[in-house]
Amino acid sequence: MAQSGPAEDRLETVVRLIASNMVAEVCSIYLLQPDNRLELYATQGLRAEAVHNTFLSLGEGLVGTVAKSARPLALSHAQRHPAFAYRPETGEDPFLSFLGVPLLRGGRVLGVLAVQNVTTRTYKLEEMEALETVAMVLAEMVASGELVNLVELHRAEVADDRRMHHYGTAISEGIALGHAVLHQPRFHVTRIIAEDSDEELTRIEDAVGRLRASVDAMLSGDTLGRAGEHREILETYRMFANDSGWLARLREAVESGLTAEAAVERVQNETRARLMRQTDPYMRERLHDLDDLANRLLGHLVGVPMTAAGDKLPTDAIVIARNMGPAELLDYDSQKLRGLVLEEGSATAHVSIVARALGIPMIGRVAGITDILEPGDAVIADGDTGEVYALPSQDIVDAYSEKARFRARRQAQFRKLRDTPAVTKDGERVALNINAGLMVDLPHLHEAGADGIGLFRTELQFLVASAMPRLSEQRAFYSQVLDQAKGKPVTFRTLDVGGDKVLPYLAHDKEENPALGWRAIRIALDRPALLRYQFRALLQAASGRHLRLMFPMVAEVSEFEAARAMLDRELTRLDKVGQARPASLEVGSMLEVPSLAWQLDALLPMVDFISIGSNDLLQFFFASDRGNTRVGDRYDLLSPAVLSFFRHVVSRCRAHDVPISLCGEMAGRPLEAMTLVALGFRKLSIPPAAVGPVKAMILELDAADLSAFLGDKLDRPDRTLRPLLTDYARERGIPL
Ligand code: PEP
Ligand code: MG
Repeated sequence: MAQSGPAEDRLETVVRLIASNMVAEVCSIYLLQPDNRLELYATQGLRAEAVHNTFLSLGEGLVGTVAKSARPLALSHAQRHPAFAYRPETGEDPFLSFLGVPLLRGGRVLGVLAVQNVTTRTYKLEEMEALETVAMVLAEMVASGELVNLVELHRAEVADDRRMHHYGTAISEGIALGHAVLHQPRFHVTRIIAEDSDEELTRIEDAVGRLRASVDAMLSGDTLGRAGEHREILETYRMFANDSGWLARLREAVESGLTAEAAVERVQNETRARLMRQTDPYMRERLHDLDDLANRLLGHLVGVPMTAAGDKLPTDAIVIARNMGPAELLDYDSQKLRGLVLEEGSATAHVSIVARALGIPMIGRVAGITDILEPGDAVIADGDTGEVYALPSQDIVDAYSEKARFRARRQAQFRKLRDTPAVTKDGERVALNINAGLMVDLPHLHEAGADGIGLFRTELQFLVASAMPRLSEQRAFYSQVLDQAKGKPVTFRTLDVGGDKVLPYLAHDKEENPALGWRAIRIALDRPALLRYQFRALLQAASGRHLRLMFPMVAEVSEFEAARAMLDRELTRLDKVGQARPASLEVGSMLEVPSLAWQLDALLPMVDFISIGSNDLLQFFFASDRGNTRVGDRYDLLSPAVLSFFRHVVSRCRAHDVPISLCGEMAGRPLEAMTLVALGFRKLSIPPAAVGPVKAMILELDAADLSAFLGDKLDRPDRTLRPLLTDYARERGIPL
């Protein structure tokens, strides 16, 4: 890669200056190429012909060793080191001593800066530190394009497809083509050399103090939950932030002449180099925590906002984060938000529910993505397959643009079905409702042509608030929901918190198994004021109108009875204070706990309807955590076990003439929805984007024929009936 130009001339000058300042006969700069080889880019003292012709792999020779370990190496007898690799083209035979330091930026190795001397010189610690400081400055200059031709460097990188393609878990469907926005901006240090070390010491100590206070505040619950941060992570932060060794290393780095921010970067680079060699995943995860913490400390020093939501965003922002809470996602300008990619995240986390409500594609569990992407990088996020492309090649952009156009055409076809009722070929009407929980969901009710809202998750209003919403706020919110539903039925589910839905302002002990813990109706019955106020707000909002309510996580009939009795007391209170009751009231129960399926004969006479929450129900059914990717997909929802369980519930509901619906995520997938209709479900509640595809499927389905086809297959020992059902649909042209 022969190069010439102003950038390369500058590089020549730099090596000359360093060599003379360090009193060294040789100074060379090697840069890491996308193929992971180190290329000699400039030298003073070695043969000029070797420039762009000498290459070393990571770990090869002394330079490769420095790059691989990301640590300095000082040797008075270089040739005696086991890794020494002789490169005849460089003419380096006469040079005995060697000092190499990595060029590090944001913890990543960009190359190596090395000096060599003819004598067997022992480099002093101060000399090593001075060369490291020069390397920090150089790394900035390389990254900004001042020293090398970045176009050439990047063109090579774009060709390297392997590093660009990442797999995660598809969480919210759709395709986003846009540019990366790092939710927590990565700070790059530009001011490296201190003018006044005492002042820098004060700055670093102040910033560490502020960092500790902010971690304490997060742990005390002011923002816990809102930011999607787990308590364990914050506790690790607190431990590191109070580590005296860390502060001592920061002080030492400042005393060596660096600015406070350069000291943070230097210490983090060194820690990173140490931890990167760990193979233990726990330790590597701690590295991530330390990176976050160092970044927060830089944020305190530089005084910039902690998230990118308030920054100037590109018009096609794909937000990249380790994790975040629902409120943080809502802070972004939805006009510019195209997608979300997280390193953590699960399909049923709150932020995922909000992403679906906003209609943006979301991919979770993409390992290391916050380290890989730079702000402004072109990104494609495929919420259907869970793939993420960073710096995609033109072929991939073309293919995805076509896929996005195809989706848009399909959406247009679905829109045409908006006013067509969902009726099967054999005349069965299926009510298609949507799941909602935020005001942004309401327009979807009409845009999708849905029959109503089958699940309104009231906890979302509580989750995005920093304090418990007051009665008047709750009432205003529910009233607005009913106004905007314009007479279409809305089924409000009472507060479903606990488990992974933590209200920052509600005292809650840490639990070993939160999914099986103090949550939903259990909290509501133990803290009756919460539910009473919610009932009051709902009843007042629905005064003179129709109101549908249901309770989450009911495990036994007595829980339903207790909640219903509280509701009745609130109704009586309404009469006493002379307020109008709702014009009509229906009260139902969710079926999310398997035990309730064997109490239906007792429960059904008390309820107006049942709604199966398959997300929770099936995690309990299979004992497999819905948020844990290791086991989340292990069992198939179309297994005979699940389907015969549903058949039992449907038959009990029919016998008692109680309507049944299903509002878990599975009902939004056409194949699953098809199967549910064949089992007798005539009401589904699904994400708004699923209304079109599910309706298109229903219009081509003969429900009685599929029921007959299923026949005794539910009693077979098959692991799943998915292949059979897929073939059934294909052969009959039912769109899935
Ligand atoms: C469910 O569990 O299926 C359900 C609809 O409730 P959520 O996803 O809010 O827990
Ligand atoms: Mg649930």
